[in-house]
Amino acid sequence: MTILDGKKVSNDIKNEIKAEVDAMKANGEKVPHLAAVIVGDDGASLTYVNSKVKSCERVGFESTMIRLPHTTSELELLKKIKELNNNDDIDGFIIQLPLPPQIDTQKVLMAVDPSKDVDGFHPENFGRMALDMSTFIPATPFGILELLERYNVDTKGKHTVVIGRSHIVGRPMSILMSRKGWPGNSTVTLTHSSTKNIAQITTQADIIISALGVPDFVKAEMVRDDAVIIDVGITRVPDENAKRGYVLKGDVDFENVSKKASFITPVPGGVGPMTIAMLLKNTLLAREQRRE
Ligand code: NAP
Repeated sequence: MTILDGKKVSNDIKNEIKAEVDAMKANGEKVPHLAAVIVGDDGASLTYVNSKVKSCERVGFESTMIRLPHTTSELELLKKIKELNNNDDIDGFIIQLPLPPQIDTQKVLMAVDPSKDVDGFHPENFGRMALDMSTFIPATPFGILELLERYNVDTKGKHTVVIGRSHIVGRPMSILMSRKGWPGNSTVTLTHSSTKNIAQITTQADIIISALGVPDFVKAEMVRDDAVIIDVGITRVPDENAKRGYVLKGDVDFENVSKKASFITPVPGGVGPMTIAMLLKNTLLAREQRRE
């Protein structure tokens, strides 16, 4: 069994990005600038945005964090997005989700200039991804592809079962794994909460990509020997013995499933760090496209 070490690979990617940024600086070029907008003070969202900003510093990007109160109206947020779209100094920006209920997420994501949409959530970019055109691939699926590639995991002709059909993970993952190319060329089954007999389906999988957010959902008896297991889930489970009062749990019963798997991602230290690295990669791409 091989651990797909997202922490290590993401560090490698950050070092590669830093080398490119250093070369840009040496040439007197503008370095990439990522902005992140966060509305409200959700603890998990703040942690994510802070680590994105920290990662920007680590690779030499400029970063701007824009914090708006949870009472922000849709109109105010749309105005902020317009400002960012028109700000030539910003190469890419993200709107941290989830947004408060008074704001229509779809409307907000549609307002982001596709050339600055480094999260890859705008319908234009999502459509380009589905059509195999160059685009910003959403960071989490992009990170999974990169992990599979760097560990040389064979995906061609394999049966990939994706659990969860969200717009940011499960759905794009199912499209990417079925595309012609590598990683890809898989036969994909996309499952969700209305899927019947899910265990019967997962036991036929060569590759399982789990993104539902239910701790220990994927159990050893749901997995065939030598399966590849990608655990996207991150759930904060209260634990009074933990320093922060909670522990992070994946969707997979790691202890037992890892005994059967050929490759497996841990939580934490698997897909999570890859997501941030690929956001940086998309921001570098955005800068390069603006330069051309
Ligand atoms: P989401 O929007 O809540 O979607 C969850 C999906 O799981 C839905 O499609 C839902 O089905 C399905 N589902 C729920 N219960 C199910 C069940 N019992 N059986 C089968 N399918 C079920 O979640 P998300 O945003 O994709 O995130 C999923 C998990 O990944 C969360 O833990 C999140 O924190 C984590 N995540 C991690 C990263 C990272 O960087 N590692 C990035 C993003 C998300 P329906 O469509 O039928 O409701």
